[in-house]
Amino acid sequence: MERYVLIGLRGSGKSAIGRRMAEKLQIPLYDTDALIEKRAGQSIPEIFSDLGEEVFRQMEREAIASLPDGPAVIATGGGAVMDPHNAQTLRRKAHIILLTADEEILHSRIQGSSRPALTHLSDLDEIRHLAGVRMPEFRGLADLCIDTGSLRVDEAAARIIHLNGMRRRNPELFAETLAAINQDTPDNLINCPLIFGITGNPVSHSRSPHLYNALFTEYAIPGRYLYLPAKTAEDAIRIMRGLGAKGLSVTIPFKEMMISCIDEPDEDALAIGAVNTVLSCDGRLYGHNTDWIGIREPIRDLRGGDALVVGAGGAAAAAVYALQSLEMDVTISNRTEKRGEVLAERFGCRSALLSSSINADLIVNATPVGMKERDNSPVPSELLKPDTTIFDLVYTPPMTSLLREAEAAGCRIIQGTEMFIHQARAQFTILTGIDPGIDRIREVLS
Ligand code: NAP
Repeated sequence: MERYVLIGLRGSGKSAIGRRMAEKLQIPLYDTDALIEKRAGQSIPEIFSDLGEEVFRQMEREAIASLPDGPAVIATGGGAVMDPHNAQTLRRKAHIILLTADEEILHSRIQGSSRPALTHLSDLDEIRHLAGVRMPEFRGLADLCIDTGSLRVDEAAARIIHLNGMRRRNPELFAETLAAINQDTPDNLINCPLIFGITGNPVSHSRSPHLYNALFTEYAIPGRYLYLPAKTAEDAIRIMRGLGAKGLSVTIPFKEMMISCIDEPDEDALAIGAVNTVLSCDGRLYGHNTDWIGIREPIRDLRGGDALVVGAGGAAAAAVYALQSLEMDVTISNRTEKRGEVLAERFGCRSALLSSSINADLIVNATPVGMKERDNSPVPSELLKPDTTIFDLVYTPPMTSLLREAEAAGCRIIQGTEMFIHQARAQFTILTGIDPGIDRIREVLS
């Protein structure tokens, strides 16, 4: 596949490296900013000042949609792939290469550039701001990340062509790692540009491989998603590195331990104390938590009010974080009181014994009670009032005795499958840079 899309912040070398790659490979170069200027008959600064950024983004969308198929090097404007349509179009049948460099290097490279500023910040602060907003998206999309800071244009171009858009893999270590996890794996996996997997213990029940592999086909993402059972979080990272994998979904019991294996956990993961998504870019590991998003999204119409979280484990921590982001006043009730108090102290909320005197507009069950057929509801029936919302995080089975009782009492009920679907959408977007939308996730999983 000789189609390369270069993405990165301004000054990362996309145009110069793209030009050199196109010369070496003798294939066309499409520089999206140059295409827009040619079509508009105006320079980018003129388009920004005469017509504004929104019109520029529309022109950019049209230019990208009209790119011919087939071999090419495509150098994109810094913000191009932030548009989901552009990301999906560029992703198809192409290697996506992220070019990076230190902020100071980017700053020195853009001195004297006529490109318009996107904010009112100083150049260096704008670089920092755009890095914060755009780099997570860029890392998700990238098949390969190249730090151009210490490379000449020629060297960077040669490296990308030599790797053919692939991550570097050591064949012996790759074979050894695969043998150790003893999984059924597709033939020729070593030549697969992108490897992902779910790790935890156990993992064989997970539906994530089905979801991811179906979406990879749909969006022409050159990837495979595998079951990657491991003994510990450290072991999971060894497997990830041995396979040259790009990303991991992390399930119990590794989410809490995973945080200490990661180079850059994000602020949500740090606050919750758990990582359920690991992304590798240029050898560095980035950690995220999408469980709290899975809890917040189905109830984002609720704001303020009193909430009760039953349980004090990892899912409860994600729930408290999500509910506090919706400005709710949270009380935690846990079977082991002390553990509930410790969690409440961490989040600056209340803990209380589970009783019929607790006031709650929303109740979240964050215990496994309900997974077994004979399990009774973990919530006293007096708390199930018609204006209460009950969210049971248990998703197997989707209908639990708590939800049945709540439905009979006239409460609004939310099934644990909703959390799974919303967290999966957020995780897929982090790991691939493509947002499939909630309806598509729901369809594939149904
Ligand atoms: P965890 O860290 O092991 O915590 C389990 C919590 O449940 C603890 O607070 C524990 O209390 C409490 N608990 C366990 N058995 C109980 C019982 N018989 N009666 C009362 N309390 C009990 O587990 P987790 O990772 O937080 O996960 C909790 C549940 O959330 C899972 O079982 C799963 O059903 C659900 N979950 C759903 C999703 C989703 O996508 N829908 C994702 C993650 C988790 P003690 O402190 O007293 O032991």
